[in-house]
Amino acid sequence: MIVTYPFSAVVGLDDLKLALVLNAVSPRVGGVLVRGEKGTAKSTIVRALAAQLPSVAVVPGCRFACDPAAPDPGCPDGPHEPGAEGGERPAALVELPVGASEDRLAGSLDVERALTEGVKAFEPGLLAAAHRGVLYVDEVNLLHDHLVDLLLDAAALGTCYVERESVSVRHAARFLLVGTMNPEEGELRPQLLDRFGLTVEVRASRDPEERAEVVRRRLAFEADAAAFAARWAAEESALAARIAAARARVPGVRLPDARLRQIATVCAAFEVDGLRADLVTANAAIAHAAWQGRDAVSTEDVRAAARLSLPHRRRRDPFDAPGLDERLLEELLERTAGDDEPGPGDDDGGDPSDDGGPGAGTGPAPASAGPGSGPGSGGRDHAGPPPSLEPSDGTPPSEERGVAGVAAPYRVPLLEVPGLGEGAAGRRSRSRTRRGRSTGARRPAGPIGDLHVPATLLAAAPHQRGRGRRGAGLVLRGDDLREVVREGREGNLVLFVVDASGSMAARKRMTAVKTAVLSLLLDAYQRRDKIGLITFQGTGARVALPPTSSVEAGAARLRSLPTGGRTPLAAGLTRAAEVLRVERLRDPARRPLLVLVTDGRATAGGDVDRAAALLKGTASVVVDCESGPVRLGLAVRLASRLRARLVPLDSLADLGAVVRDYRKAV
Ligand SMILES: [Zn+2]
Repeated sequence: MIVTYPFSAVVGLDDLKLALVLNAVSPRVGGVLVRGEKGTAKSTIVRALAAQLPSVAVVPGCRFACDPAAPDPGCPDGPHEPGAEGGERPAALVELPVGASEDRLAGSLDVERALTEGVKAFEPGLLAAAHRGVLYVDEVNLLHDHLVDLLLDAAALGTCYVERESVSVRHAARFLLVGTMNPEEGELRPQLLDRFGLTVEVRASRDPEERAEVVRRRLAFEADAAAFAARWAAEESALAARIAAARARVPGVRLPDARLRQIATVCAAFEVDGLRADLVTANAAIAHAAWQGRDAVSTEDVRAAARLSLPHRRRRDPFDAPGLDERLLEELLERTAGDDEPGPGDDDGGDPSDDGGPGAGTGPAPASAGPGSGPGSGGRDHAGPPPSLEPSDGTPPSEERGVAGVAAPYRVPLLEVPGLGEGAAGRRSRSRTRRGRSTGARRPAGPIGDLHVPATLLAAAPHQRGRGRRGAGLVLRGDDLREVVREGREGNLVLFVVDASGSMAARKRMTAVKTAVLSLLLDAYQRRDKIGLITFQGTGARVALPPTSSVEAGAARLRSLPTGGRTPLAAGLTRAAEVLRVERLRDPARRPLLVLVTDGRATAGGDVDRAAALLKGTASVVVDCESGPVRLGLAVRLASRLRARLVPLDSLADLGAVVRDYRKAV
């Protein structure tokens, strides 16, 4: 048996523990998005929480975890006799892998058996498995769009629908959704951010004592997990009991009108879109009151809820990281707290159920949670504006320390990978997809996708006499089935290889080059591409940004890119070939697009022809940066060697009107 790390033994991470507990107390809170660097024990703590959830009573043999007291009337394994005897099992923890298929997530309906055998065969997916438990998505920001849509629809409706050719199945799917992401690898789109109830920023502690304690406990757990768990058993069962008690208390918790107005005031002041923030904050405040043993929501509950429910809902630029101005929150709470009515059991901050044990970290927000101190605090709000792609005022850039500035980005023409790909959904190159418009029919290679009815009938028609058809119905066989071929758009890996040598800087081209690359980066963000950045200058090439989905990171690297020195073009090309080789192994379906930004000069390092040969077969674009009355046409020659599309730098900008407020284009 696998022993999970005890929840109570987790050191620090108070915001995360609180967010998880509030969700365990009330499913209405709507899940947690955990943002943070790698190696912060995000998955350990989620697993630990799942072990704390009350076990569920289930109808024996039902694959959809029906509650015997109230079975799902539409259960595909039903109908079940209500009130029949049930079994018990722990609440499920289901992990959704980033690369999962739609069928794996939502379940698959066997159209072939439906047609040939006349049965509705449904194989449940992960949404069914997660019902009444936890669905955990590591790296939710890397999840394919259509999976995210499916997931969020199910989370919002509490139901999973699977439909193929008007044969449909539905079943209950209510779960605590926990997603994690590393913001370095790209932000979640705002509309998806909004679908998570709460968000928490985690960071490994910078306090040596606390770090030492984390490691001490971890080592003890690894040495003897069972003994370690046994030492924490008392705290764990106390925590489980407290969660269960709080759950029972939720329906009776009052939300006084003054507190509701307080929530509305706070949400309005933080300029969140829509009313979802108010709802989530209210539900989280109710859960927090129940957790603290109160019968009415207090200002303290509103504060705890707002700190977790608002940071990701502020109206903001697409590349801003979530954050919350805690000073403003305190001001607002103070201004509206005057009429706080003390509820029964609320003895002025005293926490009746807080035993002060190791689980106490999940109790009331620590006193130190003032402005800018907690891990979830938007420290950036105090430190100045968040990083943005936009230059501060659009004035001509400074050229100090050999770092050219960047002007306002503009719209660029669509640069495509030729042919038909099969990569992740996006908006760049043509691809075969599960969605998109229908372009034909084919014999399915694996499990059938969407059935192409006319093609299937046509395939079956010539064999009817041979199969001994007598009556009115067609005699269908499995190999008659045809599926729809669809075409949509995929995202690509756009690898920028940028000449940052002196020959570019000397001609003051670097600002134009950086602006062009920034514009292309912005375009890549909108088209859901992965991006990478290689620069070459002086003695060699370096990977300034390994392939990632974070445009913010790309923009930051670009801004600080120094220029000067000689021009090792071949080194840049060789490095690009290396990066592409690794990425092909890592993500074979994602087709690369090489964007080489250069004037074609090579004054150092290696044979350009040989290096260009390494990139044979890669879809490429050469952005020709040569300017002036006398031109050597080196970039033109390079483009023909690479069989690349040639785009003069200036025409890149001319093709689109300058988009000053590029956010409108997102
Ligand atoms: Zn059932």
